[in-house]
Amino acid sequence: MTGIEALSFPGVFAALIVSALYMATYLSFVRLLRYPRNWYPPSLNASLATGVLAALTVALVSLSPGALDSLALDSPALAVSVGFIIVLFYVIAAPAIAFWPASGLATRAVEFLAKHGDYAGLLLLGPAFFAGLATSNIKLQAFLATAMAIELTWFLRQLWVGRQQRRLYPLSNNDLSVLETQAKGDLAAFRQRHGISELVLSKDAVSWKGCGKGTPACPLNLYVNRLGLNTAPCCRDHMKDLSHYIADCLVEMGVVHWLEGGSLLGAVRESGKLLDWEDDIDLSVLLDDDMTWERLTAGFAERGARDGYYVDIFDKKDFVSISFDPPKRWPFRWERNRLRGEIRADILIYRRAISYGETVLERRTHKGAMPGT
Ligand SMILES: [Zn+2]
Repeated sequence: MTGIEALSFPGVFAALIVSALYMATYLSFVRLLRYPRNWYPPSLNASLATGVLAALTVALVSLSPGALDSLALDSPALAVSVGFIIVLFYVIAAPAIAFWPASGLATRAVEFLAKHGDYAGLLLLGPAFFAGLATSNIKLQAFLATAMAIELTWFLRQLWVGRQQRRLYPLSNNDLSVLETQAKGDLAAFRQRHGISELVLSKDAVSWKGCGKGTPACPLNLYVNRLGLNTAPCCRDHMKDLSHYIADCLVEMGVVHWLEGGSLLGAVRESGKLLDWEDDIDLSVLLDDDMTWERLTAGFAERGARDGYYVDIFDKKDFVSISFDPPKRWPFRWERNRLRGEIRADILIYRRAISYGETVLERRTHKGAMPGT
């Protein structure tokens, strides 16, 4: 096929469809990442939908009408498009996989890609450029251009968000001594080794460039659970705000609720404060005939959209998570799942059940290794 033929109307039309299909595949995939972020294996239906979209994209890229009403296969285009999707989606998924260490998938490579998640997708820019030059398949070129345009937009948006003003928090003596212990005294080397960009070291003070509503959250799961640091003062503040916000919502909705897990332990043992290493808020609610799952989740969804909190509802798991970051407009809504950090409250659902003739509370949400009752 010559260049002129390739730019024919059906060719351009097919290229546009490939572009749209790749975008749909990408959005479906970033939406799927909500599962590993919440320690759940991806749902079968959502995975199938993403898989079908990816297969359609690849098929359209590599198959063309051939002689005698048959389909001609462009094998190099097939190899390039499949290879690209596998590598790029691995890069995109890395931060979400890093949220779920128990999955066994959070390898060093995943950690590395997660750390550089803002621009790791752009590492494919060179290969995409050369593959685009080497082929005369306009659909493959459209596929590569769309994938790279999305990665470039993501990178530029993260760059812009990274420039937002951050409030400087002093580190308390307690936080500082934990940091110094984990860093074995060399804060500068520790900062460098783990890419702790929030840590500000000056001659006479150690402070923390805090996250806020308009910036990505500090990567708590890394700093707290992997590096053994105390929760950053900004994240602690936002977690406290988030728990008060959710409690206010629950009071307004008339739902019986209580603190659970580490949040309850902190409240009791630390006189109403969070544990120094708290990484999320655990709140439990009791559902009954008056307060159903549908009423509860509709109430949260409406309030979250109004007040700027991201609400993620897992219908089949009886689980809601509410995050401090404001919900973005579609189609960027699910791209938050590419971020490394999140300030979140997990809402666990309880119902009354009868056990050996006694009324007990049964936990409906199963998360990680949590037992049912
Ligand atoms: Zn923070």
